[in-house]
Amino acid sequence: MKKYASIVGILIFTLFTNCSKSDEKIDVKTDPVVEDWYKTTTLFTNTHIIEEPKSSQGNVSYLIEGDSKALMMDTGSGENFGFEGTKMKYLLNDLTAVPISLLLSHFHFDHNQNIDEFDNIAFPDLPSLKQKTVNHIYSFSAEELFSGNFPTSATVTEWMPLNTDIDLGNRIIQLTNIKGHTNESVAVIDKTNKLAFLGDFLYNGTLFLFDTDDVTSYKTSIDHLISILDPSYRLFGAHGVPEISFSKLKELQDFLICIQNNTCSGTSQFVWGKDTLLYEYNTMKIRIFI
Ligand SMILES: [Zn+2]
Repeated sequence: MKKYASIVGILIFTLFTNCSKSDEKIDVKTDPVVEDWYKTTTLFTNTHIIEEPKSSQGNVSYLIEGDSKALMMDTGSGENFGFEGTKMKYLLNDLTAVPISLLLSHFHFDHNQNIDEFDNIAFPDLPSLKQKTVNHIYSFSAEELFSGNFPTSATVTEWMPLNTDIDLGNRIIQLTNIKGHTNESVAVIDKTNKLAFLGDFLYNGTLFLFDTDDVTSYKTSIDHLISILDPSYRLFGAHGVPEISFSKLKELQDFLICIQNNTCSGTSQFVWGKDTLLYEYNTMKIRIFI
């Protein structure tokens, strides 16, 4: 499986480094003093975009701060050396003074590698996840991790409700379940600052589906996102150039309809030892494992 991880990394990295830069209107601050690994960008003083430009995955994680608590969306690739015993927590301690809860956008290996550095782990309050949790311990399956066998489990300290206002302290967010890439995928919708964090559901790069049946779920989720967001929202993904054009929501919806109607046809490709179909539509690509 490690072999797959490195192949995944190379392929995804190649994709992302080929992405064009967006015309972001935000200040960029690098953090070369401690370790030249992260690139942090701050929006509205309380939203930290944490990129790992040198990671094989082109990861982007987000620290979403309220006045009383902060939500960390994903934990980075874990491919760096770190500083004084932590690979990510040292950076977060510099960025915020309020308690941090970790929320995984989904359970794939490339989003959870520093999970052990977090005392507070919030899961979305999905029945499927709660049923699998015993004495606060959730055990990850190989399929959920996609590659590798880390982490084996997590201690869930908080269940965050879905589609419900959550106050981080003068900052209202909601979680919403966006099935398609994986069943447990969630988006964080920041209603106060009009930001939407979409994980691997939508980012600047080729999107991945792991079953042809997921097209239906993806379509349902994109319909839902379009129904709850308006163009005043700014969108952010978990790989590559962080900010996504709002128009990509509609483009993805049209793309999925095209696949569902068989108007779009995929090109057969053998990837990571499996059969896939690669679809292309305007500026977007979707790879489906079949
Ligand atoms: Zn990912």
